[in-house]
Amino acid sequence: MAIATPVIHFIETELTSIPVYQYAFFRPQDIVFHDGLRMFCKRSCRHYKTSWSCPPAVESVEKCTARCLSYEDGMIFSTIRTDLPRNLSGTMGGEQQPVSTAHEQVTGRIEAIMKRAGKAYYTLTGNVCTVCRQCSWPKESCRYPELMHPCIESHGISIAQLADQCGIDYYLEGESELQFSIIFLRDP
Ligand code: SF4
Repeated sequence: MAIATPVIHFIETELTSIPVYQYAFFRPQDIVFHDGLRMFCKRSCRHYKTSWSCPPAVESVEKCTARCLSYEDGMIFSTIRTDLPRNLSGTMGGEQQPVSTAHEQVTGRIEAIMKRAGKAYYTLTGNVCTVCRQCSWPKESCRYPELMHPCIESHGISIAQLADQCGIDYYLEGESELQFSIIFLRDP
């Protein structure tokens, strides 16, 4: 891992105030990228062709892989779902208002930690973007590119496999459901 020990200490101290269930650091070169996950998106995911955060709107797996590998470190983390699976956004004066799920709020807080730690980052999350009630894809460009996180699987990354590699849970017993994000890190 390329992150200096004091930076890890800073990040871990900051994480204690955030409702993260588990997290782990990893090296991006240890990810096994699967081209075939795009076929799964196309055949099996109801979000295919519905969002800027999902295929075919995201770049090719080859370009996504290259982007992920351009970072020196990665962190995967999970939260326990506490809100509705689909977006909670509303409209005000006819305009779309961005609203984050609890998991996305945690993700945003962790991005802020990385910024304070002096790191450049690139973030993926384990679900379709839920910022707007109705995604603008494909008629207009993304309304909130600064809030939109592409889907992890769209980048050819198996969350289950990476969680297993990192020694963190993928499933929870009972009714609870885990949500995941990945943040890639490097020096600016
Ligand atoms: S921010 Fe809005 S327009 Fe952009 S991907 Fe998310 S839902 Fe779609």
